[in-house]
Amino acid sequence: MARAQPVIVWFRDDLRLSDHPALHEAASRGVPVVGLYVRDEESRALMPPAVRRLGGATRWWLAQSLRALRKSLEAIGGTLVLRTGPAASVIATLARETDARAVLWNDVAQAPHQAVGRDVEAALATDGIDSQIFAGDLLVDPKVIRNKDNRALRVFTPFWRRVQGLGDPPEPLPPPRKLKSISGVVSEALDDWGLEPTRPDWAGGLRESWTPGEAAAQAQLKAFLDDSISGYAGNRDRPDRDGTSRLSPHLRFGEISPRQVWHAARFVAAEHPRLAGDIDKFLSELGWREFCRHLLFDAPDMADRNLQEQFDAFPWKRDAHALKAWQRGLTGYPIVDAGMRELWHTGVMHNRVRMVVASFLVKHLLIDWRAGEAWFWDTLVDADAGSNPANWQWVAGSGADAAPYFRVFNPILQGEKFDPDGAYVRRWVPELAQLPNDLIHQPWTATPIELASAGIELGKTYPPPIVDHKRGRERALAAYATIRGKD
Ligand code: FAD
Repeated sequence: MARAQPVIVWFRDDLRLSDHPALHEAASRGVPVVGLYVRDEESRALMPPAVRRLGGATRWWLAQSLRALRKSLEAIGGTLVLRTGPAASVIATLARETDARAVLWNDVAQAPHQAVGRDVEAALATDGIDSQIFAGDLLVDPKVIRNKDNRALRVFTPFWRRVQGLGDPPEPLPPPRKLKSISGVVSEALDDWGLEPTRPDWAGGLRESWTPGEAAAQAQLKAFLDDSISGYAGNRDRPDRDGTSRLSPHLRFGEISPRQVWHAARFVAAEHPRLAGDIDKFLSELGWREFCRHLLFDAPDMADRNLQEQFDAFPWKRDAHALKAWQRGLTGYPIVDAGMRELWHTGVMHNRVRMVVASFLVKHLLIDWRAGEAWFWDTLVDADAGSNPANWQWVAGSGADAAPYFRVFNPILQGEKFDPDGAYVRRWVPELAQLPNDLIHQPWTATPIELASAGIELGKTYPPPIVDHKRGRERALAAYATIRGKD
């Protein structure tokens, strides 16, 4: 008897079983399903702008997430095959090997990913194999929300109004209960991919901080909506509180979909009308993710190019010493250093502090935002091709709907306002822990006696400020004056 022809589901940034349109369709056909993940570091080199190579922290996350996905697929009778090479030839080869009838995948609405997808489609078409592509991991297709020049909207508020005007996105799809599979399909071993650091193994902090995978993502969403959504609108700005959802890396890898988050949050709002304000705020943050991705759809080279051209002439400083001090959390500004150390240890940084450290690098140190973006890209577990460059450009002033360049965050006031008791700084910069609250955000103003009684020797146990705030601010404004009006 002829073996049933399987379909292949190609997983990319959608490492989940529920609300997965391609998998849902494959399962509903009642034929065997072969799950596939391709480690493709070649197709991307062919066409600029390329699919960006993952950074160290996202490679670590990917390894854990693939393990979780494989386990979930196996629990319902499925498989996950791992292969390396250019997606088009890998997929066409696997399709021939398994005599597959079709290959299904969810769109990643980013130009380089779509270019790879087109190559796959073409390679399969040559062999007479069908491709079917489903809606991806956005609330709305970027081609739907356009201005009159057929471009992505560049201002968030009207963008978000348009998204909301479309009403609720479709209900999430359930996960398949059972999959048929075929045996004998060879997979590479995940451990051979070298995604996790070994010598040295710097991922201890990541392991302590996170459980990647769909089950953990769902549990995290539930815990957040049960316990922390109340007060979110205010708490979300406080790095000293656990006031946010911590869903960003799960969303980044598609372990949970934005429409699952949307519907779960709306359900809670309907049950508890008093939470409506917090939930609107939370969903509007999801809206920022969407906004950044829509911008990326139009500007795939957003990590390399100023969206506002006048910034091409900005007199950035090349200062390897200052960049290193920033990366290591040794600038002498406690809130900046706390953020950079949180990032290094956990793979994320609180949003408020991301803004402060980014502003500090770009304005106080006059270092090109692209150097900061690249560091974040390598160290964040949520490093996202849309959100990372869009937010960096927002802070730098070079982006769409950006904060004006002349608004320079004062790292002392930001610390005092959003970490008033210094709990966040004490946690991440323990050498300052003994300072009283009124000095914790500006240790250099302490008297020698105060420093001694807190066990601090400025310049030895903790650095003095790398640049004086007032001078840094003036220098930034002077640099900006040289490009203002040049467009
Ligand atoms: P919550 O407050 O619970 O928000 C819910 C979700 O909304 C987040 O998970 C995220 O998907 C989205 N979101 C929230 N704020 C933003 C925002 N400003 N822009 C885009 N989406 C947002 N976020 C990333 O996911 N990846 C990045 O690479 C990234 N780089 C950033 C770089 C800079 C310089 C700055 C200032 C912000 C960056 N952000 C990035 C946005 C934001 O800091 C994180 O999304 C947020 O801290 C994640 O924590 P959370 O999941 O607890 O957020």
